[in-house]
Amino acid sequence: MQLDSLYQEVILDHYKRPQHKGLAATYDAQVHHVNPSCGDEITLNVALDGDKVAAITWDGVGCSISQASVSILSDLLLGKSISEADLILNNFTELMQSKGTMVGDDAILEDAVAMAGVSKFPARIKCALLGWMAYKDAVVQAQAKL
Ligand code: ZN
Repeated sequence: MQLDSLYQEVILDHYKRPQHKGLAATYDAQVHHVNPSCGDEITLNVALDGDKVAAITWDGVGCSISQASVSILSDLLLGKSISEADLILNNFTELMQSKGTMVGDDAILEDAVAMAGVSKFPARIKCALLGWMAYKDAVVQAQAKL
């Protein structure tokens, strides 16, 4: 897999120094998602404060793409309103489905644009999306409790 070297660096940086890794003891919802095709696993806790994403913590094992992607999202979506986070999530999903035709909007996606090249590799898209799908699931469950 060939990724742009700058983007490769962003991904490796998140992989080596993951953000918000380590599950918080208190949360509104906890989910566990797996990507059997690669062996990636992510447990993700989310806490809401009204309509704001108050905390995202996670733990996981797997390839650098899956672990870097969840690190990026936990930083990017933290403190956003749920609707802002949804917009970012939809934007990222669209990028992952673009088969390499989109570069991504870094004003919206920030570090997540580093994943753009992954969309050219169908086998790895699930790796990149795993944490995002876990986040989406967790927020739906957390909202159901409100
Ligand atoms: Zn993977």
